Amino acid sequence: MLLPASLLDQLCSAPGFDRAGFLQAHQEAQAPTSIRLNPSKLPPLNDAMQPIGWSRQGYYLQQRPSFTFDPLFHAGCYYVQEASSMLLEQAFVQLMPQDQPLRVLDLCAAPGGKSTHLYSLLPAGSFLMANEVIRSRALVLRDNLIRWGTQNAMVTNNDPEQFRALKNYFDWITVDAPCSGSGLFRKDPDAIEHWSPAAVQHCAARQQRILSAAWEALRPGGILFYSTCSYSVEENEAVAAWMIRELKAKPRSLVLQSEWGITSTDPGYRCWPDKTRGEGFYCCCLQKPDDRVPTFLPRVQKALRSVSKNEMSIVRPWVSSEDALYLLLHQTVYAWPSQLRSEWEACVALLNVIYSGVRIGELLPDKLVPDHALAQNSYLSNTVALVSLSLTEAILYLQRKPFMPSQTAKGWTVATYQEFTLGWINALSTRINNYYPKELRIIKDSLAS
Ligand code: SAM
Repeated sequence: MLLPASLLDQLCSAPGFDRAGFLQAHQEAQAPTSIRLNPSKLPPLNDAMQPIGWSRQGYYLQQRPSFTFDPLFHAGCYYVQEASSMLLEQAFVQLMPQDQPLRVLDLCAAPGGKSTHLYSLLPAGSFLMANEVIRSRALVLRDNLIRWGTQNAMVTNNDPEQFRALKNYFDWITVDAPCSGSGLFRKDPDAIEHWSPAAVQHCAARQQRILSAAWEALRPGGILFYSTCSYSVEENEAVAAWMIRELKAKPRSLVLQSEWGITSTDPGYRCWPDKTRGEGFYCCCLQKPDDRVPTFLPRVQKALRSVSKNEMSIVRPWVSSEDALYLLLHQTVYAWPSQLRSEWEACVALLNVIYSGVRIGELLPDKLVPDHALAQNSYLSNTVALVSLSLTEAILYLQRKPFMPSQTAKGWTVATYQEFTLGWINALSTRINNYYPKELRIIKDSLAS
């Protein structure tokens, strides 16, 4: 791996940089493989999993398995995530109250590593808005949140500028900014070709634009978590210094254990691959001065259309939650937590919301066609029929290939693997119809292909 000489020259001034150790980590060591478990779908642990110090549900794996051919991955039992970036957890649990509902925004969210992580850390009654500006990536983000089984979350597809409309609204904002990506060279050596000092400058200017919009949406006293996977000071400490100078941001510090090997910088924290067991990562926590501006409550502009009593009699047998709001949008029923009604109304009026709550299904005059999201969510009624699949059957199901489970009830049934739900089948007397979404199916034929 030939690292750009201009990067190495730039890094001489970076806090904690050790040229020899850094080169050795890139020449001789591989990026560790790590996952973060979903606390609401906890899969069994095994001896080969080693805890990551700074994240309760984070684990290193000894080898990289084929995640594609593991049904538990598709069931949303874990997220494959780089260990250093799980440092977000320390910031969130150390700086945010754990006993009151919070409004949380993940502004640059796809594919969803930090959104699924934040979601699992939210105090009861909170809500998460996960935004991604690139539409195709926003759809992947939506799919990952559906798999994670989220309920109090929405996915938006907006430019950061549009968040200025939600002035002083969020208690916490994560800006995991697009960056020059040098911190991931070990995982993706092809990215080295695209790196240049000019790309670093370009990214730093874009990071400032994104942050200035995010800052407006943060409530006074709220915390902005800024991170990149770049090593360049220009994209890290220099951007944070600009926030402190221009926006009067106050840096907040964290208590980290020395054995984690994380370098404290001014302001923020760095993970170097020769010191921390993970890839290159920078983060800092910035608080907005509390100048007592009241929290902004946008005016409701878009009234909800809840399902009627009659429609609810069709929906009820499919769902477990009595106290959710059941909303109808273009004949599709969504469930959304009742206590977050005004949040939904405000956000839908101001942003391009592409998914919210839990999609329950399509309402036809006399029946509901259940949605994949419901199958993967705890809103699923426990009276719905289940069929347990073997590993081979589960893979065939996820590939959308023909198979016939040995014992299944007729009609709509949820396919499970090791008790975790995968998706719907509709069992007829001679065959089953597979409703696993086409766009999520496993395309590979086998491990070897
Ligand atoms: N937070 C994500 C996670 O943990 O999975 C990774 C985010 S990635 C580092 C940065 C994201 O910013 C990408 O999804 C990218 O599409 C998005 N992005 C690119 N240009 C942007 C812009 N001008 N404004 C906001 N986001 C942008």
